[in-house]
Amino acid sequence: MASHVPPGAPRPASKANNPPSSQPPTNFRANPDSLADNLHNLNFNSAPPRAPSPLPGTPFSRQATQPLPPSVSPFPPTFSHPAPFASRPPLVSSASGGLASTGQPVFASGALPGGQQRFPPLGSAPQPPVRPPPTMAMATATARAHPQPQPQPPTTTSRPLIRSSPIRTPPVQPASPFSVAPQARQPPTTAYTYGQPTWPLQPGQGAPPPPITGSPQPPRMYGMPPPLPNQSMTSVSPAVRQTGAPVPGASKIDPNQIPRPIPGSSVILHETRQGNQANPPPPATSDYIVRDTGNCSPRYMRCTINQIPCTADLLTTSGMQLALMVQPLAIPCPSEETVQVVDFGESGPVRCSRCKGYINPFMKFIDQGRRFICNFCGFTDETPREYHCNLGPDGRRRDADERPELCRGTVEFVASREYMVRDPMPAVYFFLIDVSMNAIQTGATAAACGAINQVIADLPEGPRTMVGIATFDSTIHFYNLKRALQQVYNPLMLVVPDVQDVYTPLQTDVVVQLSECRQHLELLLESIPTMFLENRTAESAFGAATKAAFMAMKSTGGRLLVFQSVLPSIGIGALSAREAEGRTHISAGEKEAHKLLQPADKTLKAMAIEFAEYQVCVDVFITTQTYVDIASIAVIPRTTGGQVYYYYPFSAVSDPAKLYNDLRWNVTRPQGFEAVMRVRCSQGIQVLEYEGNFCKRIPTDVDLPGIDCDKTIMVTLKHDDKLKDGSECAFQCALLYTTVYGQRRIRVTTLSLPCTSILSNLFRSADLDTQFACFLKQAASEIPFSPLLLVKDRMTNLCVNILLSYRKFCATVTSSGQLILPEALKLLPLYTLALIKSKGLQTDGRIDERSFWINYLSSISIPLAIPFVHPRMVAIHDLNSKEGDQPLVPPVISLSTEHVNDGGIYLLENGVDCLIYIGNLVDSDILRQLFCISSVDEIPAQFVLQQYDNPLSKKLNDLVNEIRRQRCSYLRLKLCKKGDPSGMQFFSYMIEDKSSSGLSYVEFLVHVHRQIQLKMSS
Ligand SMILES: [Zn+2]
Repeated sequence: MASHVPPGAPRPASKANNPPSSQPPTNFRANPDSLADNLHNLNFNSAPPRAPSPLPGTPFSRQATQPLPPSVSPFPPTFSHPAPFASRPPLVSSASGGLASTGQPVFASGALPGGQQRFPPLGSAPQPPVRPPPTMAMATATARAHPQPQPQPPTTTSRPLIRSSPIRTPPVQPASPFSVAPQARQPPTTAYTYGQPTWPLQPGQGAPPPPITGSPQPPRMYGMPPPLPNQSMTSVSPAVRQTGAPVPGASKIDPNQIPRPIPGSSVILHETRQGNQANPPPPATSDYIVRDTGNCSPRYMRCTINQIPCTADLLTTSGMQLALMVQPLAIPCPSEETVQVVDFGESGPVRCSRCKGYINPFMKFIDQGRRFICNFCGFTDETPREYHCNLGPDGRRRDADERPELCRGTVEFVASREYMVRDPMPAVYFFLIDVSMNAIQTGATAAACGAINQVIADLPEGPRTMVGIATFDSTIHFYNLKRALQQVYNPLMLVVPDVQDVYTPLQTDVVVQLSECRQHLELLLESIPTMFLENRTAESAFGAATKAAFMAMKSTGGRLLVFQSVLPSIGIGALSAREAEGRTHISAGEKEAHKLLQPADKTLKAMAIEFAEYQVCVDVFITTQTYVDIASIAVIPRTTGGQVYYYYPFSAVSDPAKLYNDLRWNVTRPQGFEAVMRVRCSQGIQVLEYEGNFCKRIPTDVDLPGIDCDKTIMVTLKHDDKLKDGSECAFQCALLYTTVYGQRRIRVTTLSLPCTSILSNLFRSADLDTQFACFLKQAASEIPFSPLLLVKDRMTNLCVNILLSYRKFCATVTSSGQLILPEALKLLPLYTLALIKSKGLQTDGRIDERSFWINYLSSISIPLAIPFVHPRMVAIHDLNSKEGDQPLVPPVISLSTEHVNDGGIYLLENGVDCLIYIGNLVDSDILRQLFCISSVDEIPAQFVLQQYDNPLSKKLNDLVNEIRRQRCSYLRLKLCKKGDPSGMQFFSYMIEDKSSSGLSYVEFLVHVHRQIQLKMSS
């Protein structure tokens, strides 16, 4: 049984300081104090003190570290100046960092509070099981036993339109077409996932969400009052003649009247079901609080359409795609109840004996509760005797409201023995560091060692946490971590010279318990940059080193974190500088250009599949100033549930802070190991394909050696039968995984949606953010295999076909001079344009940059997918002019040069990069306050945001930190100015402008309209 403080859990001291609160959780918008507390501790940016960093004589002194005062940066002081080339790179002392405070939550550097519960109470957190039902004798089958048909290849999406029973209902013009159903961005003052990753367990599980006091507007229930009018739509009237020819200049369109995202101004309260009906969720990019009343929270799973078309024809007619976005370990907001853990004892959870679907609120109990009907396959099962309960007058079980599995859309079952092929694996972290000449000289090795040194302080200490470390250049160097401490200054290095046929020396002493080697490891990490200071080996045996590290971890599995700085050039999996060859191809004609975005060969893929088989998840941190062939390298993280981090061009000044924060979030975020996931659907629908970072060995399941709260898997669906109008279609995602505390769990997420045979219902219940995230992921997976123009055309066609279907079958406006957009999807053209103009679809981008773009999208969540291609821009020069309680994030500005003045400063962020554009005519006083420079000419190439002693500077720091919290990412900051490449980079995001990468927004609307007219008349 899970105890409150399992081995390896947050240190008891922190618990004592922060006992789980029995009070209702603080509202995540309205409690100014808690927000202030967080901000108080949120100083990533302030000037690091120059104090010398003491040697960590006693590595445990950090236990006594006090929370950092606002003026102290958690970021190691030694990185405040550039590492001189070929001199000893600066080291990081964990003692000076003070990040591992066990005191009150220190919100250090954008990751997690250093104190209590480092792992938020998701599946990985200790939670008492809820009311264990009596043990049952009933046998259940294993997770893999579900007989599902083989997936079919994906259908193409350029579908012919089928004229099936046109649905025409009178159009209703909304009073203000742009004020309904805001496509909200993150409202500003919200403490989002990053900000308050710790929140108390909720004792009152059934309690309604707390009231939102202090909210500027009263909360509204999404989906209540009744949905939008059936034909709610936005119409714009581009200057197009009946013939379809655009009027020159298209001047009749008022650019101020075309659809743009409007940030929501208040938190939305969302109950997943009301009156026994599914409630359509608020937009994924909005700010909401969910109450799970039977359907899962949309954070875990949401569908592209919130009503399921009864037939495949109806879906085809709509032009839309049917897919689920699943983020099984997503972080709930602090005001939401945590997922409840249910323990059925040795018998395991109740399941359908035919399809193995898990018990959920939509299984119907009949015959006085003695039997139940499965909502997936329709089979009627006997209720296990121990699980029997009588039905109430409403036909539900009398205990339904007391059993989470019968009243909640998401529950977590304690896995019984039969879900384990071995004992749950320990938490193993292996760090593999590039020490080739380039890595040493650029300061990348020092940055990696510094980041690791600080992060090991955040790893849960206990018998279940194990670590290992190795370095590599043209050979691989392991370290015996069990050597006595006095020998540490001359560590026992075990060199593996053979990089073709790799082996691992002394397996047992290479990966050891963290508690046994913590001090040794810290000193070793400090020594590594010095040990290789004179290294002149330029070669890098990345593939061989990764394989050797894998072999060291093979017996347990775990997380392998690789720090790579140059192109892998030697040993197994060596790569060549294809980019240079590629340029010739591009100039010769771009037919073959996309091939550079494919992996160079199959060696790394084969290795990755083997890694996945042994539950090793690989993350690669690329700290480089050259081409490294991300397209080839990324195969390993993508196949093993990991991800690629990219720091280009690596800067020893500005990147170590980001590297540290990324690494810290990587190891401390909610996560699981050795996972298997499957989605089940009601009869009539089946899974077509899974898309994301995983390994697939059998058609029905995906293997996830690692799964974390940020990873999202797209699940495309198809019909294999008709669904009954008025019935419901259910989807269930089951994730079997091991928590970092070594518990085997099954997280079961269920969503039941109504079926419809009415086309306009599909448009009304379309989920824009989810649909567009699908577009993005599809584009990303196609780019390496198709000429770019083809991908752009396909994306435009996806958009056009949806709008055409709406125009043709749902709108009754007869004038073809009107472009009619369905209300729910009115931003689709803007987002599509943003996609077409994005980095991944540019021929002139660097190959590695495009490869990173593609790989980043493969596992991205919906809330991060939208800003990644349609960034957020705000003005920061006038932050001071606002009075009183203003939101931290100022109003969003449309992405057009028109709104960028020479006298202003603008911040633009996409969740990865944060560009600050400084106009030529900015008041020098503002420049001094914000950046301590007196003119634009003094803008530094490498920028570290500092906090100066003035209100404007504080507001900018607060803003940047708020964005980091919302995006769960540290973001790379860069200052930009007109007339140099940085300015061009900034203006390349002005999506609404006409540019070399495409049409203006207005022109694109005209183009889309034209396409619709052509298809209507053909
Ligand atoms: Zn079934």
